[in-house]
Amino acid sequence: KTANGLTTFNPRWIRVNTLKMTLEESLSSPMFSAFEEVSGMSDMFFFDIVRKYYYPKAELLPNIFAIHPSHDVTSSELYKSGKIILQSASSCLPAIMLDPPMGSTVVDGCAAPGNKTTHLAALVGDSGKVFAVERDRRRADILEKMIAKAGAENIVTTLKATDFTTITEGHPAWQASYLLLDPSCSGSGILQRVDWDISKLNLPISDARSGQPSRRKRKRDEASQQDSLAQPEDQESQQAAEEVEDGDASKERLQSLSDFQVAIILHAFSFPRAKRVTYSTCSIHAEENEHVVARVLNSEIAKERGWEVQSRKDNPLSTWHRRGLVSELSNLEAGSEERQRVADGCVRVNRTDSLGGGFFVVCFVRQFDDGGQLG
Ligand code: SAM
Repeated sequence: KTANGLTTFNPRWIRVNTLKMTLEESLSSPMFSAFEEVSGMSDMFFFDIVRKYYYPKAELLPNIFAIHPSHDVTSSELYKSGKIILQSASSCLPAIMLDPPMGSTVVDGCAAPGNKTTHLAALVGDSGKVFAVERDRRRADILEKMIAKAGAENIVTTLKATDFTTITEGHPAWQASYLLLDPSCSGSGILQRVDWDISKLNLPISDARSGQPSRRKRKRDEASQQDSLAQPEDQESQQAAEEVEDGDASKERLQSLSDFQVAIILHAFSFPRAKRVTYSTCSIHAEENEHVVARVLNSEIAKERGWEVQSRKDNPLSTWHRRGLVSELSNLEAGSEERQRVADGCVRVNRTDSLGGGFFVVCFVRQFDDGGQLG
């Protein structure tokens, strides 16, 4: 912990691809068998960075664990064979929040490079179906590679160079019950990437061992200190970062992103059999998060079809402490109690939460049957 109590350590998060192996098999494999479980990530960092520790956060993040970032993962057989996937914990939240049952049909509306697509495939299993929609052909090529590497080809149908908003009646994906929406955003929650050679981190090992916060050569604020300890990502994920907007957080830019994000969600609300829709961004701007939630809830289609924000008590991330900002929901046409319920239903992750970046996710649910359409 730093003097002001913020955690500055970013571990490397690993999602076990349960289509290929279990968490237990992964941890007992030669690569991880010598690792010792710790109860907190700070233990991993401050006690002794050269020892092998792992941190499972199973109650919140099933099949996901963290290791110290100095450990090489990308050259391992587990990684090369797609048994483990490098994916920040933040990025795992939408599929966990959507919680599609085994055997269900899901649409991933903005899919490339496919981290969430393959996560969804693992959740619905061989008896389920995932339609992965990607507008950009080049990114869809990467998506297909990721799906193949994860062994999810039999579960996922890739809709290449397809705009999600063009999926309408008559398309097989139109009958999906669950939709995950992770559209383009400003990327303001993303941590900067650095060369992961521990020797280049300006982090004296003796400091880490003695439990002291690292001394930086240059004075930096908390946010950029967090950036310098960012999690490296594999090539495909790097592509995803390139896709997110250029960091221009001007009012106009945020407004246009927010208009696009609203359009994507409203289209999902029109799917006749949809029961749950998650919306997520790797942005920390309320314009792309709570403001978008307020706008879609105020829409005619949300009111007609009974779309609401899932209450905190009902969602799988109910124990996560950081929730939506009620102060940013002033445009929501609702009383103060409902505004608070909506804010509590949203999940926020700050850049300093050690989950691999700032993030926002919310799950919309349909509360009533409209003419027998809901299955
Ligand atoms: N969910 C991805 C993952 O976890 O790997 C990252 C998604 S990235 C933030 C947003 C993606 O949505 C981009 O690949 C972009 O090309 C795609 N996209 C944007 N608008 C779209 C649309 N209207 N229909 C389909 N895909 C779209």
